[in-house]
Amino acid sequence: MLKLKKVSKFYYSKGMVATGFTKVSMNLDIGEFVAITGESGSGKSTLLNVISGLDSYEEGEMYINGEETSHYSEKDYEIYRKKYIGNIFQNFNLISSYTVYQNVELVLLINGYKRKEIKEKVLDIIKSVGLTKYKNTKVSKLSGGQKQRVAIARCLAKDTPVIIADEPTGNLDSKSANSIIKLLYEISKDKLVIVVTHNYDQVSDYVTRKITMHDGRVIEDLRIKETEIKEEINVSKYKETSIPNKFRLGIRNTFNIVPKFLLMLAVYLFIVVAISGTYSSFQKGEYETSKEFYSPYFSSENLDKRILLKKTNNSPFSDEDYEKIAKINNIDNILKNDLLYDREISLNNDYAYFYGPVLSVDLFKDTLDEGRMPENDNEVIIVANKNDWVISNMKDEILNGEFSLDEMTNLKDGSSYKVKVVGIKYKERGYNTNIYVTNETVKKINEYINISNNKTTYNYAGRTYESYAYDLTSALRPTDKVNKGEAFISSENTYNCKNSKCIGYDLNITSINKYYKNNLTLKITKEYDKNTINSLTGLNYEEYNGAVFINEEDYASLWKGENYQSSVFIKDDKIVRDTEKELQQIGFDTFYLLDGKTEDGTAQIIRISKVIVLSILIIVLFFISYFVIKLILKSRNIYFSTIRMLGSSRKTAKHLLDIELNTITNIAYILFLSLIILSRTNIVNLKFIKDLSDFLSLKEYIIIYLILFIMSYLTSTRYSSKLFKKSAINTYREEV
Ligand code: ADP
Ligand code: MG
Repeated sequence: MLKLKKVSKFYYSKGMVATGFTKVSMNLDIGEFVAITGESGSGKSTLLNVISGLDSYEEGEMYINGEETSHYSEKDYEIYRKKYIGNIFQNFNLISSYTVYQNVELVLLINGYKRKEIKEKVLDIIKSVGLTKYKNTKVSKLSGGQKQRVAIARCLAKDTPVIIADEPTGNLDSKSANSIIKLLYEISKDKLVIVVTHNYDQVSDYVTRKITMHDGRVIEDLRIKETEIKEEINVSKYKETSIPNKFRLGIRNTFNIVPKFLLMLAVYLFIVVAISGTYSSFQKGEYETSKEFYSPYFSSENLDKRILLKKTNNSPFSDEDYEKIAKINNIDNILKNDLLYDREISLNNDYAYFYGPVLSVDLFKDTLDEGRMPENDNEVIIVANKNDWVISNMKDEILNGEFSLDEMTNLKDGSSYKVKVVGIKYKERGYNTNIYVTNETVKKINEYINISNNKTTYNYAGRTYESYAYDLTSALRPTDKVNKGEAFISSENTYNCKNSKCIGYDLNITSINKYYKNNLTLKITKEYDKNTINSLTGLNYEEYNGAVFINEEDYASLWKGENYQSSVFIKDDKIVRDTEKELQQIGFDTFYLLDGKTEDGTAQIIRISKVIVLSILIIVLFFISYFVIKLILKSRNIYFSTIRMLGSSRKTAKHLLDIELNTITNIAYILFLSLIILSRTNIVNLKFIKDLSDFLSLKEYIIIYLILFIMSYLTSTRYSSKLFKKSAINTYREEV
């Protein structure tokens, strides 16, 4: 049945050739109980490993069942081991984290038995080696003799014609040793049992044949008893490991050793959080730069939420229009007159200069750090950067100090607009200073902005002048001293009129902006000079000579108090396009302010560095995880070499590892998702996880899962290929 013809085994290591054994020939048959003896180092184990198909040979021929084996590939040896060989080792070679039952069952699961067939068979075998009492005991808790019984039970379960036992009693006391030998003898009736021992006396009562080795050679081959020669051989019935069996084992291995499981779970959880955390912090950066948008025309506040509106037909907004707009779901609020909002104004005097948006004091919801809220119309409060030098060093001068609001002029006399700072609120960031003013002041500023946005000209006697509110000597000035429909001009500006007398001439005023053009015709009724200017207008000649005075109501009619442009703030900027469409349908032209942003390269740089950093991170994490997992799995080398000896193919072993790693990554991922759900629903307070999830969408969740999946797959591939590069026995040898 098993025939060796001048078989030799050499070891090559570091250029040296060592001999395992040389030119061994023998012929062994079913029914024999063979003892191989010889001193340590004589080549007994090497010979058994070669016979077992766990190690290759370099010379000679080995036949099994008449078939020559020298051409065998790794795959052929797998089949060979499955069909013919059962191994028993000095060190038992059991899965110590499995129970007795599971150890025996393992062989059957690997060899493709169905779950239903297994149970009875396993229990029978356990009974036959006398371990029924211990069937659910973990192997690590058993005595040496009991362990070796489990190993024999495992061999019986595998049901191979050849059983090879390398010093099976080496670690046992003589009583247990005896009972093990007896057990082996009993099963040898219809099998070939080969036992290596250096204590021949122990086996002498049972063996049918004695082979003695010395220095790698067989020096004696004695038949002790005649045996019935059996020609018929029952090779082990085996199938490929079935998929359900792989899952049973894979899942069992996942949870079998709890600390190992937790450690691996921690590694993968760390990986998910690291990748998604890095990714989302990039997304956050990208998102924030997408909102960093400087425009010379629009306030930088809430740009991403603001849509500018005008009527498609350029008419002013009616109350009805505002009602219609307010009905749109995504509209948060409406800024009817948005000009003030976009006007950043400076507040300055001799020692300080602040710059920022002007807001209604109604919008100030905080509490002041210094001073009090405005009580009069010329009082303001400011929100300023705490670290600003002026703010930190001149607080007392600023508080109650008088400032002029720049770009803002009193229409009546063109003088600068003075305010007093009565309160300060500090902020940590930002160099703009928000200026909060009373509603009366808001109204005045609005009026000023509106009139100064118009191009206003007037002409009389064929000469045209431009009017700028801040220009003291030629602007139109409203005053209650002039009657409606009339105008006063300077007696020095009359040279175009006949006889230099302009009274009775028409003064035509045109005020134009994007939306409308207003014309107004007044009569010049008075010419003032340096003696009369003060009584006529209340202003002095030196400064105001040249100005044209008209009635306040006439002046106000030059700019319509109506709004031609408004802004809306939306709740959700993700659906801005839908909101724009809705607004267009009810008669407005829209302009989403973020659309005015031109790509400035920052976003591009962030995108590129995102790809680079993430790729590097993933690769680094892969190697870290690979080495950590490898370290953790180190204890599993024995497991894998064991199942290989039990007949598992390399593919099966890899699948078991795949299933194990994948189960753990799945759990890590589910844990990660649970953390996100818990923190999003505020059940647990994990700010980091919550922030991170703000920037992840379904697509990213899928990608992260795939990355994790691929990582675990690559880890198992690398690990198992390293494991299988060595012969099973070498892997085993290194571990023991
Ligand atoms: P025994 O089991 O009889 O004690 P072995 O079969 O273990 O002896 O060893 C036989 C010879 O082969 C010894 O000289 C030993 O040093 C050598 N040997 C065994 N395994 C290896 C190996 N993996 N590499 C190199 N030499 C080895
Ligand atoms: Mg040995």
